Amino acid sequence: MKNCAIVGINWGDEGKGRMVDLLTEDYDIVVRYQGGGNAGHTVVNEKGKFALHLLPSGILRQGVVNILGNGVALDPENLLTEIRDVEAKGVAVTPENLKISDRASLLLPWHRDLDALEEQRLGDRKYGSTKQGIAPFYSDKYQKKTVLAGELFHPVELREHLRDLLEWKDLTLTRVYGSRPYTLEELLRWLEQYGETVKPYICDTGDYLRRAQASGRSILFEAQLGALRDLDFGIYPYTTSSNTLAAYAPIGSGLPSLKLTEVIGVVKAYSTCVGEGPFVGEMFGSEADRLREAGAEYGAKTGRPRRVGPLDLVATRYGVELQGADKIALTKLDVLGYMEKIPVCVKYRIGDTLTDRFPFPAELAQAEPVLEYMEGWGCDISGVRRWEDLPEAARAYVRRIEDTLRCPIPYVSVGPQRDSIILR
Ligand code: GDP
Repeated sequence: MKNCAIVGINWGDEGKGRMVDLLTEDYDIVVRYQGGGNAGHTVVNEKGKFALHLLPSGILRQGVVNILGNGVALDPENLLTEIRDVEAKGVAVTPENLKISDRASLLLPWHRDLDALEEQRLGDRKYGSTKQGIAPFYSDKYQKKTVLAGELFHPVELREHLRDLLEWKDLTLTRVYGSRPYTLEELLRWLEQYGETVKPYICDTGDYLRRAQASGRSILFEAQLGALRDLDFGIYPYTTSSNTLAAYAPIGSGLPSLKLTEVIGVVKAYSTCVGEGPFVGEMFGSEADRLREAGAEYGAKTGRPRRVGPLDLVATRYGVELQGADKIALTKLDVLGYMEKIPVCVKYRIGDTLTDRFPFPAELAQAEPVLEYMEGWGCDISGVRRWEDLPEAARAYVRRIEDTLRCPIPYVSVGPQRDSIILR
């Protein structure tokens, strides 16, 4: 019986969706356990190119059951759009292959409003939010002021609950931000339109997973974003508002006592970071433009250009530790084919001190990258499928990363397609 989590080691966008899409072949169930529709996995397979935001990547495999766990931010409006998008490409989404936890909280329209209003208030000190309402959603969840998906089956109680929440939320909207209030009728209409459409998928997914586990079915846990965006251990406050770590998978899925049998950490062959916050190795100018273009580094949700830099081994080792990764999947190695010399960030300089430890967030602004250069291979490796067929310089690059991270790299991805993978 296998329970495996596939998680990001860095700032997100490592190519997790691509790895889940590949590995779902060996799993019966795929669970998303945290986050919302604020990021995106891009998956390319024989059905086309998909930008998935909230739907688990297993939705693209026939026979796989996909679960949105209690830890996710369930935005029924966006989920519906996403379901329609994948259905338009020939992927069926039914209560058999998508199940939503009755304990997942609903992301309501005011969460998006509050996200935008707060970024606007912050002006040039903004966090770089995708304005999908995620931060206001999770703060409300921890204040116990959200609606659980399962409440949709209890309309009388739901109406009373909404009335209470509305009274409180309208105070914030109008008196703190000078924005417009919501009315109960408006919210009920919204729930009628979107809540009703997701209702058929809602069930006790914890119970489903416990039974699945007891009957020996294998479960893959899919994370959003990466270790450095974890609310508790990332680059706070430029983190996301949930826990992106594998350790949270059992809780956010509805199987709190589960022990993971494997954690696969996804690392990109260079670094990218979207939005604001410290990014020690950041490249600028034409060097950055070249890498951004080569890797098509634009946000899957927003189209924002991603900040790029050399592979940051300091941050990556910290990410491997946080995730407790047993194995690494290294993605986008093909992108570096144009470089003569490949920079790698091996240490940070903070004042007079050199360190390979990832520092406390407040120290990051002073940290400067210490770079080493490795030989490039100067050719297109996207057609390579066997380790021994990779140029020696590319193998040396992979081995160098493996040695520094002290974690094996059995998967090397050289293209976005399902089969563009080298298994070592
Ligand atoms: P995720 O959120 O971690 O799944 O990452 P994204 O989907 O945002 O970003 C990964 C992007 O890189 C997607 O567009 C993938 O199709 C693409 N990709 C994944 N692996 C590879 C690879 O090995 N080579 C290339 N060239 N592209 C890849």
